[in-house]
Amino acid sequence: MATRVALIAHDHKKDDIVKLAGEYADTLRRCELIATGTTGSRIEAAHGLSVERMLSGPHGGDLQIGAQLAEGRVGMVIFLRDPMTPQPHEPDINALVRACDVHNVPCATNIATARMLLEALKLHVAGTV
Ligand code: PGA
Repeated sequence: MATRVALIAHDHKKDDIVKLAGEYADTLRRCELIATGTTGSRIEAAHGLSVERMLSGPHGGDLQIGAQLAEGRVGMVIFLRDPMTPQPHEPDINALVRACDVHNVPCATNIATARMLLEALKLHVAGTV
């Protein structure tokens, strides 16, 4: 079964996640992708990847992804948070990251860790691990 990967980025991090998704497009194309609304649109538009889009983060998208994760339907989360800007949906963000910890789902909140997870995913998708 294809790994289901969640992609989320706050506004100041959207260019970063689009770039990252482009670098790993061949790997991500072989996964099921889920994203918050705007992040998903940006990635689809930039790279033609098929993304299941939830609501925008501030409107509950993080919670929707968290709910799927709690049901065992998400295998990896790339969540590029903006640590410098207060977010109106801070409780939702914390809930999603907490859900990753509760359910032991890999979660990258910065680009360096995201790259490590995506490198692991690349090997997994290639069937070498
Ligand atoms: P967005 O949501 O992708 O819809 O902007 C992300 C967020 O702010 O959590």
